[in-house]
Amino acid sequence: MMHPMALQEVCQKAVPKPFIIPVFLRHQGCSHRCVFCNQHAMDTDETPAFRPEDLRRYATAYLAYNRENRRPVQLAFYGGTFLGMEESSVFAFLEAAAALIQEERIDHIRFSTRPDSITDVRLDWLSGFPVETVELGAQSMDDHVLAASGRGHLAADTVQAVKRLKNRGYKVGLQLMVGLPEDTETGSFSSAEKAAALSPDCVRIYPTVVLKGSLLAQWYRRGEYTPWPLEACVHHVKQLFLYFMEKGIRVIRMGLQASETLTPKHRLVAGPFHPAFGHLVRSEIFFDALAAFLKEKKEVPDPLTLRMHPRHASKTAGQANRNIALLKNRFRLAEIRIRPDPSCPSETLFVDETPIRVPC
Ligand code: SF4
Repeated sequence: MMHPMALQEVCQKAVPKPFIIPVFLRHQGCSHRCVFCNQHAMDTDETPAFRPEDLRRYATAYLAYNRENRRPVQLAFYGGTFLGMEESSVFAFLEAAAALIQEERIDHIRFSTRPDSITDVRLDWLSGFPVETVELGAQSMDDHVLAASGRGHLAADTVQAVKRLKNRGYKVGLQLMVGLPEDTETGSFSSAEKAAALSPDCVRIYPTVVLKGSLLAQWYRRGEYTPWPLEACVHHVKQLFLYFMEKGIRVIRMGLQASETLTPKHRLVAGPFHPAFGHLVRSEIFFDALAAFLKEKKEVPDPLTLRMHPRHASKTAGQANRNIALLKNRFRLAEIRIRPDPSCPSETLFVDETPIRVPC
């Protein structure tokens, strides 16, 4: 458990969040069908493949949601292997995006791609286009896990890809998965260490879930794959999150994006999916900080008052007030009062007026 004051050191500096226009290129450019993946589960089968000529209309519609005119605006190509597509398709998408940049409607382009799609020739395709960030689907830095997951590339491909991208001045994001076939908590942590050693600008951490139509779903039905339980997965991702924070690496997402079809009724077969996975992780960190602080106290006042910036109120209380129930039980308290207060500094939580630092 991390002492609350130690959290001060790992508290990440607030970085303005870009307004992201996500463009989902379902399986476009994929050279492999990874065992866990079925992009058709992320939207509806009826959705036609996204085309470059769809971009302007789509981005215009999406920008209508940016009511506060937040900047920077990033156009993000996700869901396939961007640099695995034909050169003509890559150009067509980039040209359509660059036109929107020229009109100052968007500021940057980012895309996700497989590590083994990063070659010097393909990086040459990008020259002259305002691409800012490239996210690599590293998934694991353990070759055994990569092979068991049918990824078709090695950890060394990720190392090489990061070097190539950095040499050309791109920001690099790494996507990591936990709970893949043959993955263990120790192995996953070691993967995180290897990923951190590459000094990416940001990481995303996804739990492995079993999606309908994936090879993993067949293995699951035959009893050859067991997904990690949600609670264990949250606990483990918390360790990774804190580790990356200590290293000064931003974790920009934990957990899969909720969608209408990512439900047990539709495409989700099994696994640690939760629509607010990141919130569960952060709530657990808040709980740890509070529990560690209260443990040091000779006497815990009852009722106990917790005052915090409103945006931290639900993390303090925990999902369905879980933290409150656990703290009451552990410290034998009859009442805990949550007092959201906009005047509180964002990174500080007041426990009966004693400030403790919390992760942003
Ligand atoms: S994980 Fe990435 S590379 Fe693998 S099938 Fe899915 S989109 Fe394609």
